[in-house]
Amino acid sequence: MSADAGVAPTAVDLGMPAYAPRGVGHLRAPEPFPVAARRALADPQLRRNIGKATGTIRDKRLRVVAEVPDWEQLRDAGKAVKADVLARLPELLEQLEERFTAAGGTVHWARDANDANRTVLDLVRATGADEVVKVKSMVTDEIGLNEALKAGGVAAWETDLAELIVQLGHDRPSHILVPAIHRNRAEIREIFLREMAGVDPALTDEPALLAAAARKHLRAKFLSARVAVSGANFAVAETGTLSVVESEGNGRMCLTLPRTLITVMGIEKLVPTWRDLEVFLQLLPRSSTGERMNPYTSMWTGVTPGDGPQDVHLVLLDNGRTAALADEIGREALQCIKCSACMNVCPVYERTGGHAYGSVYPGPIGAVLSPYLTGVEDNASLPYASSLCGACLDACPVKIDIPSMLVELRHRHVEAQRDARALPTPERAAMAAASWVMADPGRFAAAQRASRVGRLLGRRGRISSLPWPLSGWTSARDAPVPPAETARAWWRRTRTRTTAADGKAAGTPTPGPTAPGRTSPGRTAPGGTAPGTAGPGS
Ligand code: SF4
Repeated sequence: MSADAGVAPTAVDLGMPAYAPRGVGHLRAPEPFPVAARRALADPQLRRNIGKATGTIRDKRLRVVAEVPDWEQLRDAGKAVKADVLARLPELLEQLEERFTAAGGTVHWARDANDANRTVLDLVRATGADEVVKVKSMVTDEIGLNEALKAGGVAAWETDLAELIVQLGHDRPSHILVPAIHRNRAEIREIFLREMAGVDPALTDEPALLAAAARKHLRAKFLSARVAVSGANFAVAETGTLSVVESEGNGRMCLTLPRTLITVMGIEKLVPTWRDLEVFLQLLPRSSTGERMNPYTSMWTGVTPGDGPQDVHLVLLDNGRTAALADEIGREALQCIKCSACMNVCPVYERTGGHAYGSVYPGPIGAVLSPYLTGVEDNASLPYASSLCGACLDACPVKIDIPSMLVELRHRHVEAQRDARALPTPERAAMAAASWVMADPGRFAAAQRASRVGRLLGRRGRISSLPWPLSGWTSARDAPVPPAETARAWWRRTRTRTTAADGKAAGTPTPGPTAPGRTSPGRTAPGGTAPGTAGPGS
């Protein structure tokens, strides 16, 4: 905020939408995507692990989605519910707070990661506990809660098997649903032998034995923990009910055994009613794990005397979400239900894995959500981590138009770069030149003729190295050799002759090459008359 000369800047917090703060949490990539991706691509084991895992989940998802006759209608319903939630977010959040509080819970509002971490740490300290058990939660990873708790003298134990593997391996999650997707079972065995206290030294990489070792390790934690920390998949505003869906039962243990339960939830996770929840409980399991329903769906509404946690808290987190909500295009990213279907179909993710994205949210949704939460210049390389093939949009259960958002973010980044530079970039100069050439048919035709010189540079239809300033293009991909004949020349040579013959045969006047309309070369319109045409440049 600027201040007029002579007027002291105000220290009043106006509560305007702000991006997620720097220096805390895991939303900002520490290095540009191409640098991290190159390292990932050089690791064949990683590529094998991720290719196999995403391929398996992809196939399962396709099978179970095909079983649902009204899948498209379900997707439309999910999208409509989420759009309604975002349009009425303040009202629904207040309703949730009122109902959750009336049921004996306590609601805390956190503007950003620092607020949320401080709130959770204070709540844990108030219980006298020095450790907590956690059920897998993207949002606590987003705010760096484990690090904040550790700095405050509290140990956080992940209880989801994949999160446990990541934590014991001093690693970072690489997938929002399968955080250890980059590890194979031999690697997991090594981690357990190295890091898990009391593990049987004869442990093999048999999946059942690995799971049994993890279960034994975690059971002791569940039985001793006095505090649990969870995320939430959904919150039902009409009753103040929170919900976690999971596959292993560790969530159920966290949500029922400890005396104190602290849930950290992004403010976009709402649904207005239980009927709306029904839609997502069908969409989510099929899209995420390729299951018909989640093995464990836990729901709780405040405190139930004598049953489960008696001290229940909900921390509602903004951390850049209202800034995204204020963005006409970016707000669609907040409709995400974190199913991970988009990353399982993404050809870029399949080759690089999640670490290359740097943010806790990888893959296509991460490439848009992270920049919208942090501001695009703090995650400027992520919108380019895509081939724009559109597979993510096809797979998304709530039809989030990720490709359009990627293009918009690229546009904003380019504009920001232009505004920050005194001189145009080579790319911008090239685009200005191309615009000048294409604005005039004569210049365009001359440029096409000149481009034929490029044929001398090519071999077998491809040019692998262009001179500067076009060398940037061929540094990562080949360019096609310009054709021997332009489309215009081809049209004049072939089509003019054909239309003349057609006209004679049908006894109709021959349309000239400038007739309006558009059709494929070589086709005739119904009734045998030659179609109107508008070939390239006509
Ligand atoms: S963007 Fe869509 S497909 Fe990707 S995680 Fe979110 S809901 Fe799932």
